Amino acid sequence: MLILVLNAGSSSLKYQLINAETGEVKASGLCERIGIDGVMKHEIAEYRKLVIDHPMPTHKEAIEFMLNILTHDDTQVIASIDEISAIGHRVVHGGEYFKRSTLINKSVIRKIEELIPLAPLHNPAHILGINICQELMPGKPNVAVFDTAFHQTMPEENYLYAVPHEDYTEHHLRKYGFHGTSHFYVSGEAIKMLDKKDTKVIVCHLGNGSSICAVKNGKSVDTTMGLTPLEGLIMGTRSGDIDAGVVPYLMEKKGMDTHHIIDYLNKKSGILGISGISSDLREVIRAANEGDHRSKICIEMLCNRIRKYIASYTAVLGGVDAICFTAGIGENADLIREKVCTGLEFLGVEIDKKKNKIRESTNREINKDSSKVKIYVIPTKEEYVIAQDTYKLVK
Ligand code: AMP
Repeated sequence: MLILVLNAGSSSLKYQLINAETGEVKASGLCERIGIDGVMKHEIAEYRKLVIDHPMPTHKEAIEFMLNILTHDDTQVIASIDEISAIGHRVVHGGEYFKRSTLINKSVIRKIEELIPLAPLHNPAHILGINICQELMPGKPNVAVFDTAFHQTMPEENYLYAVPHEDYTEHHLRKYGFHGTSHFYVSGEAIKMLDKKDTKVIVCHLGNGSSICAVKNGKSVDTTMGLTPLEGLIMGTRSGDIDAGVVPYLMEKKGMDTHHIIDYLNKKSGILGISGISSDLREVIRAANEGDHRSKICIEMLCNRIRKYIASYTAVLGGVDAICFTAGIGENADLIREKVCTGLEFLGVEIDKKKNKIRESTNREINKDSSKVKIYVIPTKEEYVIAQDTYKLVK
């Protein structure tokens, strides 16, 4: 069964056409600069890469163009859109309402709309993507897969903030957590690799956006992102944890309004803000190797924060069987994995530096044989999870 997986952002659209039974990715790509000019990066089954400039004034033209590329001329991978059985949509915020993936109908769309105040940039784009798919591919089932759903098993004491309780009951103020499909997939793979009954797993999803999740017996019990993706780790451009007192201080000192301060903490901080070089860790590592002080400090800060959370989540779980690294940084940056694990020996974590340096795209173990805690590198497959959930719901 062929599933089209869509991740509609405010000016971008990521897609994959996946055979849900075999996991084969027939085509994938990214439409960027929607509403500006429009450029598509398209890949056919990992052997042919195309970059196409094409006007995309709205998401509708982007989706139409993608369907055209999939079905026509020498880029054709399916004869017609009839071969697509269903569409799986990544939806960032499902609030407390969506605890699992769901078939989309009018009331589901209304609910995703109601959740817009919790994800003002993301949920409107997802609704747009859903509406356009319903228009361009009438009659096909659409499924919503939520970033927040996996974390709905967190206990109250871990998701509540220490603020007046009525703001939770009246305004839904609480920790929700994100990257749920990734944490679900990676912890599931780790549990298979551990091959034991009771499991305590810590997943470090380290990409441009980063979060850590404590998973007990397959269920999320705590995670670093909060009401919004701003909380927790130091990320590409997000500050992560910060004293809330910073907000009024900066607003007064720099005459910032709410919009400015949100932009400052989400887009100008993190790796970019500390290093002053880039939000891309590869460039910062390069600069650090050339002696740049701010880049060196940035790497130390990044790793310290991850290490602190691993130690605190070990306490939350009452021990740890496996620490997993995933996403762009987690899968590729051996330096960061080594630095994070160095200093955690007191927990029984012993990294094998040689195994850590081997580059592979499959699940692998990088701890010493003597290590009490397994250290895994597990490439994440968020689109695969979305395709699987969609398949199960429409089958
Ligand atoms: P993601 O959001 O999962 O696509 O991750 C993107 C981030 O991964 C980029 O911003 C890079 O900083 C980082 N990344 C990818 N490859 C490497 C690498 N070899 N070393 C360090 N960072 C990397």
